[in-house]
Amino acid sequence: MTTIRWRLTLWYTVALAVTVLAFGTALYLERRQSGIKELDQRLSLEADLAHRWLTESYKVLGRIVTTNGSNPALDPGISAYLESIRDYLVVAGSAGQVLALSEVTRPLPADALERLAAPLDTSGFRRHIGTLPLGSPTGAVRYLAIPVDDAGPSISGLLVATPTGQAAFGPGDLLRSMLLIAPVILVGAGLVGYWLAGTSLRPVQTIMDEVEAISDGRSLHRRLAVPLSGDEMGRLALTVNGMLARLEQSFGSLHRFTADASHELKTPLMVLRAGVERALVHPGIPPEILQSLDETLAQINQMTEMVESLLTLARADEGRAPLAVEECDLRELVADVAETAGMLGESAGVTEVHSLPDAPVRLAVDRHRIREMLLNIVTNAIKYTPQGGTIALSLEQDDEAVTFSVRDSGIGIAPGDLPHIFERFWRADPARSRTGERPGVGLGLAITKWIVEAHGGSINVQSRPSRGSVFTVRLPKSISRVT
Ligand code: ADP
Repeated sequence: MTTIRWRLTLWYTVALAVTVLAFGTALYLERRQSGIKELDQRLSLEADLAHRWLTESYKVLGRIVTTNGSNPALDPGISAYLESIRDYLVVAGSAGQVLALSEVTRPLPADALERLAAPLDTSGFRRHIGTLPLGSPTGAVRYLAIPVDDAGPSISGLLVATPTGQAAFGPGDLLRSMLLIAPVILVGAGLVGYWLAGTSLRPVQTIMDEVEAISDGRSLHRRLAVPLSGDEMGRLALTVNGMLARLEQSFGSLHRFTADASHELKTPLMVLRAGVERALVHPGIPPEILQSLDETLAQINQMTEMVESLLTLARADEGRAPLAVEECDLRELVADVAETAGMLGESAGVTEVHSLPDAPVRLAVDRHRIREMLLNIVTNAIKYTPQGGTIALSLEQDDEAVTFSVRDSGIGIAPGDLPHIFERFWRADPARSRTGERPGVGLGLAITKWIVEAHGGSINVQSRPSRGSVFTVRLPKSISRVT
C-alpha cells in the first residue's frame, strides 16, 4: 500500500463499510422495534377477540366451564371457536389450571407449555405484555396476558403468544440480507474507489511526468500546461512553474557567470604564457629561475586547460555548444587517437594496442568533439596505469550502433567511486596534487559524458581496483542529438 491511490481506495472502502454498518444497525434496530409493535397489535386483537367470545358466551350460557372427572375444562363448543386462533392461546382457570389451548399450542412440549402459562399463574395479575423464552424449537415468544373477570368465577385470564421470529421480514431476515449484500457493496465500493482515486490523481501523475522530463537539466525553459479549471491542480502547476522560472534564472546566472569568468580569464592566461615562454628563451637565465619559470608554465597550461573545460561545459549547459556534424570514417579518428596514445604511452612506459574493423565505420559526428572525448578517456587510461601496463583501444560496429572501448591494466576505480567519476571536479584522491604524479582537475570525464550524450549515446565503465578499467562508449547509428 505505497501509492496514494491504494491508500485512498482503502480509506474509501473503510468509510463505506462503516457507513453500511451504521445504516444496517439503525435499520436492524428500527425493524426489530416495529416488528415487535406489529406483533403486539396482533396479540392485542386476538386476546380481545378471545376475551369477548368468553364474556359473550358466559352471558348467553351462564356456565362455560365443565368438569371432566377432577379436571375442569372449557366447554367444547366454546373452545372449538378458540382453537381456530392462529397463535398460541391459553385460557386459565381461577386456580391457575389450564382450561383450554388453541390448536397450535397443544403440540408444545410440557415444559414449554408450563413456561407459557406461567404469567397466568399469579393471582390478581394485570394485563401485561412481554417476551418469554420457550426453548427449542420455538425460541422466544412475545405474549399478552389479560385478566378475564366477567366470564364467570371459574376463569381467571387468558394468554396469547407468538414467536418473535414471526415478524414479516424480521430483523433476522434483514441481517441475513445485509450479510449477503455487504460484501458485494464493499467490493463494488473498492473498485469505484480505485477508479475514482486514479481519475483524481491522474493530473498529479501528469505533472510528475512533466516535471521529471523538465528536470533533466536541459529543459528548464519548459513549463507545465496549467489546467483552466483553476482548481488545486491549476495552483500546483502554477507553483511548479514559478519554481522552474526561479531555477532557470539561477542556473542561467550560474552558467553565464562561469562562461563569462572563463572567457575573461583566457586572455590574461594567454598573455601570461607568452610572457613566461619569452622569458624561458632569454639567454643567460640562472638555472634556478629557469626551473621556477618551467613550473609556472606548467601551472599556466593546467589552468588554461581548466578554463577551456569550464567554458565548454558552461556553453553546453546553456545550449550554446552546437555540434559540427559531418559524416566520417571513425577508423581514421581512432587510428589518429591511437597514434597520440602510442606516443604518450611510450613516455609513460605503457604499451598501447588497438584493433580496428576492416570495413569502414561511417557515422555522422562532430569529429573534433569525438576526438576530444576519446583523448580524454585514453589519456586517463595512460595516466592511471603504472609503468609496464597496457592500454587497448578498439572500435566495433553492429547494425544499430558503433562501440569504442578503452581497456587499461591500471589502478582501477573503487566500486563506491564509480557513480561519481563523471561529476564535475570529482577526483578519486582530491588530496593528490593537481600537478604532481597524475595531474588533473576532474573535468575531463564530465566533458566526455556531455559529448557522448550530445551524440545520443551512452558511456559505461567497468572497473576493479588494481586490475584496471574498461570505458565503453556506444553511439547509435540513428542518432537523436542533444545540444
Ligand atoms: P582527472 O583530470 O582527475 O583525470 P577526470 O574527470 O578525467 O579527471 O576523471 C575523474 C576521476 O576518475 C579521476 O580523478 C580518477 O580518479 C578517475 N579515473 C578516470 N579514469 C580512470 C582510469 N582509467 N583508471 C582509474 N581511475 C580513473
